[in-house]
Amino acid sequence: MKRFFIETFGCQMNVHDSEKISGLLAHRGMVPVHRPEEADLFILNTCSVREKAVHKVYSRLGEVKRRKIADPKFLICVVGCVAQQEGQKMVKKAPFVDLVVGTHMYHTLPDLLDSLEKSNGAAKQVATEFMNEPAPVEISSVLRRSQFRANITIMEGCNKHCSFCIVPYTRGKERNRPAQAILEEARRAADQGFVEIMLLGQTVNSYRDPGDYRFRFADLLAKVAAISGIRRVRFTSPHPREFDDATVSVIGEMKTVCNQVHLPLQSGSDPILKRMRRQYTREQFLRLVEKFRSLRRPVALSTDVIVGFPGETDADFQQTLSLVQQVGFESMFSFKYSARPYTEAETWKTEVTELEKTRRLMMLQRLQKGLQLRLHERHYQGRRFEILVEGRARDGRQSFGRTTSNKVVNFPGTPPPGTFLEILVTQVGPNSLVGRRLEESIENCA
Ligand code: SF4
Repeated sequence: MKRFFIETFGCQMNVHDSEKISGLLAHRGMVPVHRPEEADLFILNTCSVREKAVHKVYSRLGEVKRRKIADPKFLICVVGCVAQQEGQKMVKKAPFVDLVVGTHMYHTLPDLLDSLEKSNGAAKQVATEFMNEPAPVEISSVLRRSQFRANITIMEGCNKHCSFCIVPYTRGKERNRPAQAILEEARRAADQGFVEIMLLGQTVNSYRDPGDYRFRFADLLAKVAAISGIRRVRFTSPHPREFDDATVSVIGEMKTVCNQVHLPLQSGSDPILKRMRRQYTREQFLRLVEKFRSLRRPVALSTDVIVGFPGETDADFQQTLSLVQQVGFESMFSFKYSARPYTEAETWKTEVTELEKTRRLMMLQRLQKGLQLRLHERHYQGRRFEILVEGRARDGRQSFGRTTSNKVVNFPGTPPPGTFLEILVTQVGPNSLVGRRLEESIENCA
C-alpha cells in the first residue's frame, strides 16, 4: 500500500483538482499522508499564471530531488498547469521527475502509475493531451479537504483568450459538465453535512448545460442555492461580461447565495482593456457595478488588477486609480504584468520599466489599503455578523471565520470548523477584522 502527499500551488481549481486526485488514488488503495517525508509518491500540483510560479515549481522540484537521490523508489509526479505547459520539456529539464500529467488527464493517473511500476520506474510517463469533454469526476471518491465547504467543478477551460493569459493554453477550451451531474454532486454534499458549496470554473458564469443551452449559470446557481441543508453558495471565477441580469437578480434575491462578487477589472483604461481583449469597456464595467449596487441587499465587490501592461501610460494608470476609487472594492488582488508563454502579449514591447511597475503597484495598493480601512470602518465596525468558522488562527487560541461577504474575522475561542456563530466586530484594520462572539447563537453545522 503506497502513501502519497500532494502539494498544491495556485487557485481554488487546483485545490479541488488535488481533492479529486486524492480520491482517485485512495480508491486505488493508496493512503494520503500529511508530510512529504512520509510519502512514497510526491505530487506537485502546479500553477503557471504568474512567471514566478514556474520558477517556484522547478525550485521546489530541486528540493524534492534530494529525497529521490537517497531513495530511487520514491516517485515524483507533476500535475497541473506547469505540467501541461512543459510536457516532455519537464522530463528533460528535471529528469528525476517520473510522471507529468496535464490538466485534462488526471483521471489516467492510476493507469500511468501502474505502467510506471510495471517498468520498475524506467518508463517515464507524460500525458498532456486535451479532451473535448470535462474529465469524468467520480463524485463518490472526491476526498474533500474541508469538512464544511464542498468545491464543485461546473466547467473547465476558457474561450476568452485575454491577450495576457495563459489559461486557455493550459486548461483548453470551455467544457461544461451536465447540470444533472453537478446537482447530484451538490445534493450528495448536502446529505453528507456540507453547508457551503463553491462552484468552480475558469469563467464560471459562462456556464451552459451541454444538454440544454437555455439552462444557464443563473439557473444552476438558483437550483444549488435551493438545496436543503446548503446555507451558503459561492462561485469563482466569473468574467464581468458574462454577468447577465438573471444572475445579478439571483444574487440579489437568494439569501443562500453569498453577497460577495468577484469582478476582475484588470485595468480602468479603455485602450488597455481593448489590448487586453477583455471584451468590456470602463463604462460597461461601471454599469455592471451599478446593477449590483442597486440590489436590495448590499453586495461586496472584489477585483483583480494588473499594472504595467504593455503600452500602459501614466494616463491609463490614472484611469485605473480613478475607477478603483469610484467603485470601492472590498478587496483586491493586484499584480505587476509579466509576459506568459504562448499568449498574444508575450512578444509585445513594454515601455513600462520594472521600477515604474513597482511604483504603480505601490500606489494602487496604498490607495486600496486606505479604501479598505474606510469601508471596514463604515460597514463592519460595531456590527453583528453571522460567520462560518473555518479554523484556528496561528496563535492556536483564536479562531477565524468568514462573513457571507467573504470578510475574515478573528475572534477568541476555538469552536469547531463548520460552526455558525454570531459575531460583533470590535476592531477593524485595513486587512483584518477582530470580533467578539455573541454566545446565544451558537449552532454547529459540521
Ligand atoms: S477570461 Fe481571460 S483572464 Fe480569465 S481565464 Fe479566460 S483568458 Fe484568462
